[in-house]
Amino acid sequence: MQEKGLLLVLSGPSGAGKGTISLALQKENPSLRLSVSATTRQPRKDEVDGLHYHFLKKEVFKNLINNDQLLEWAEVYGNYYGTLRRFVQESLEQGDDVMLEIDIQGALQVRQNFPDAVLIFIAPPSKSELRSRLISRDTDSKEEIEKRLGCAISEMELARQYDFIVINDDISKALEKVRAVITVEKLRPRYHELFFMQFKQ
Ligand code: 5GP
Repeated sequence: MQEKGLLLVLSGPSGAGKGTISLALQKENPSLRLSVSATTRQPRKDEVDGLHYHFLKKEVFKNLINNDQLLEWAEVYGNYYGTLRRFVQESLEQGDDVMLEIDIQGALQVRQNFPDAVLIFIAPPSKSELRSRLISRDTDSKEEIEKRLGCAISEMELARQYDFIVINDDISKALEKVRAVITVEKLRPRYHELFFMQFKQ
């Protein structure tokens, strides 16, 4: 028997730093598995199918929805994104921790299916900082940046529903805070079934 894994959900506007935090966490923790989402968005240059996303045609994505194969899904900036249910369930049952990097709509759906999931919102320190980070990332058109900025601002209020808010004004401090959340969550009794079992024998 294995202790079940922790389901960690990271959200935050593009440019807030969740990608950097997630990469660092994966490097230092081999039993933390990042769920690769399905999307109907076109790959950006350097993005690899199956590694960054499963890039799918809309019909294929809709089949996943209809066959209940997605744990959550949402339409974000005109494209569909979703989390593959099987990967998450199997990894948690094997005792691995799983991390999702998904938007707010998706995160709130995950909470309904997995009330033990821990939702962390990675926020930029300010609106102006968010804008400059989006511009300096240089992966999207000007129009796309404005669209993402508008969405980020209107969604900010929903971040109140998360378990934790980590303001990323310094990446190493932000990373330290996320590590602290994981450490504390893992202390909960529900991750100590094996420990309790020995006292029953
Ligand atoms: P991007 O197109 O920049 O990769 O992602 C756009 C947004 O979609 C980001 O906020 C990202 O977190 C979110 N996203 C990525 N994968 C998923 C997913 O599986 N489900 C949901 N709900 N959002 C996702």
